[in-house]
Amino acid sequence: MGIQENISLKKYNTFGIDASAKYFSSFSSSEELDELFDLKEFKIQNSKFKILILGGGSNILFTKNFDGLGLKNELKGIELIREDADYIYIKVGAGENWHQFVVYCVNNNYGGLENLSLIPGNVGASPMQNIGAYGVEVKDVFYELEAFHLKEKKIIKFNAADCVFGYRESVFKRKYKNEFIILNVTYRLNKKPIFNTSYGAIQQELEKMNIKELSIKAISQAVINIRSSKLPDPLKIGNAGSFFKNPEVSNSTFNQLKEEFPAIVAYSQSNGSMKLAAGWLIEQCGWKGFRSGDAGCYDKQALVLVNYGNAAGNEIYDLSEKILQSVKQKFNVELEREVNII
Ligand SMILES: Cc1cc2nc3c(=O)[nH]c(=O)nc-3n(C[C@H](O)[C@H](O)[C@H](O)COP(=O)(O)OP(=O)(O)OC[C@H]3O[C@@H](n4cnc5c(N)ncnc54)[C@H](O)[C@@H]3O)c2cc1C
Repeated sequence: MGIQENISLKKYNTFGIDASAKYFSSFSSSEELDELFDLKEFKIQNSKFKILILGGGSNILFTKNFDGLGLKNELKGIELIREDADYIYIKVGAGENWHQFVVYCVNNNYGGLENLSLIPGNVGASPMQNIGAYGVEVKDVFYELEAFHLKEKKIIKFNAADCVFGYRESVFKRKYKNEFIILNVTYRLNKKPIFNTSYGAIQQELEKMNIKELSIKAISQAVINIRSSKLPDPLKIGNAGSFFKNPEVSNSTFNQLKEEFPAIVAYSQSNGSMKLAAGWLIEQCGWKGFRSGDAGCYDKQALVLVNYGNAAGNEIYDLSEKILQSVKQKFNVELEREVNII
């Protein structure tokens, strides 16, 4: 498509922030990506301009115009590459919509992704963020990915260990930040699904649905029902899901907090530490339902910051800063933003 100039990114981010990209392009094959890097304009600008890969824009907050090249990833394709008695390996283009891919797996009874139903965004960001919900993270089903190295202009394979997955973290958010474009991801899915209903909310919803025989389809539907009831639909109210991560604290810090705040909500971790529910901390500081202009804290889930219409990115950012400071003051706990701030 060549390179366009001064393009509004409003429809490319679920917060609905009206920022612009100085340059903008998209690609739907690795050949198109090569061609793009061969363009004369790109070569001239290459050394000077930053590149931002855009998936579904559901984990980004623009606080200013992007003074570089916004590159929309449109790489499509779902390919079954191998199977054995227990697993099926599926290679998926980074530009495929995440939830549609989950639906495809659920309909084919390939297990592992059902708890991650209805997460917005595209496949390419799933390992970058190590997306997670209801007791499952992408790392649990990840097999490998291929990524294009922007400087060396070559494709490199990463296995799970190479990705250094953590809680909403991977090597692509840290050491290799802005160095790679993820082209495709291969997942290893279970042909004999193992049901994960450890989250109480899923069990309650399954009971409400009156499910007699458990299936991945039922779990997926339960997750869809729960999410639809408590998270704002970005098409109606701009948001990027959880704005902050749930902070992890040591067991002794948790015990001290528990003495002072007996109702504190936390989940124990396999490493012995405790993960605090950031939404609870924010709610206790009085932010739930807060609104200033068009920037606000969602009234059904305090972890989600929202744009009611025409908020600027830095208004949302400033609100997040105030929330961070008040949580620090009340609980002496540092919140960390999950959303990528641009
Ligand atoms: C209502 C709502 C609910 C949500 N719920 C959850 C949830 O339950 N769990 C969860 O984990 N997340 C959740 N999210 C956050 C978000 O959906 C995920 O982080 C998702 O993976 C982002 O995908 P995306 O394609 O929109 O990424 P983008 O926002 O487009 O990009 C995110 C980051 O990844 C980079 N990136 C994107 N694609 C590529 C690529 N191909 N190569 C290299 N870098 C790339 C971008 O440059 C950016 O830095 C939610 C968001 C919303 C709006």
